[in-house]
Amino acid sequence: MPSTADSVKPLTRQCSYGTIILFSLITLGALVGLPVFAYFHDYSWVDWAMFGLLYVVTGLGITVGYHRLIAHRSFDCPRWVKAALLIAGGWALENSALKWASAHIRHHARCDEEEDPYNAQRGFWYSHVGWIFFTDPYAYDERYTSRLRQDPLVMWQHRYYVPLLLLGLALPFVVGFLYDGWMGGLGCFLLAGVGRTFLVLNSTFCINSICHLWGAQPHTATDSSRDSWVVSLVTFGEGYHNYHHAHQRDYRNGPRWYNFDPSKWLIFGLSKIGAAWDLCRVQPGRTRFVS
Ligand SMILES: [Zn+2]
Ligand SMILES: [Zn+2]
Repeated sequence: MPSTADSVKPLTRQCSYGTIILFSLITLGALVGLPVFAYFHDYSWVDWAMFGLLYVVTGLGITVGYHRLIAHRSFDCPRWVKAALLIAGGWALENSALKWASAHIRHHARCDEEEDPYNAQRGFWYSHVGWIFFTDPYAYDERYTSRLRQDPLVMWQHRYYVPLLLLGLALPFVVGFLYDGWMGGLGCFLLAGVGRTFLVLNSTFCINSICHLWGAQPHTATDSSRDSWVVSLVTFGEGYHNYHHAHQRDYRNGPRWYNFDPSKWLIFGLSKIGAAWDLCRVQPGRTRFVS
């Protein structure tokens, strides 16, 4: 890993004030609003069930949908599966799949360099969350978006990203409201909307920060990527990040049967019912992909 002092230029990017305000509100809602509501009203089983359900649905929307399907084409699937994953990923407040995946493809192509959107050479906080508070001069670079723009479903999700996102935030409010009126709606929105969004965002951020700073490098030392089974526990298997950087198109991030990688289990399960095919994987000891 190159030393920070040698390889990182001073950051001259402009602040993205809209993103700063939005993420400050989410952080305040999660760290202050949630416990205050719990003190005065408490959360119902419906709130907790929606929280768990939406954590899993939106987390897998990012890992299976945005990451392994759209960014890396590690498997193929019917249009309805792709659409469902794109809607679920959109509810995670991590931008449209077009923007997310093009930045991620650039992360692999320019890892640890100036063009790396979440360059870990700038330290933990920049790679974890700081990068979203600045405008990205390389966003929508043709080299990384041209393939994605040819996918009509990706472009559909990009066009309707905001309404889809609002639908995902309205869902817990409506479910809570139907169960227990206005206070039920507010509680479910706080826990399964705001709190869940905060946690899924931070779990994704851990890949860019922790998995580029701490952990083993058993598969490649050509960049700063690391394996962390601990991070895999909260990111649906994405913590085996060194393996993933070595074999980007493999539908598995944890290749061993005992690796905790629910994303690969979902893709494998979908393939067993005919809802996914052409699963890319590397044979042990080889670098060539087989389907
Ligand atoms: Zn990485
Ligand atoms: Zn990747």
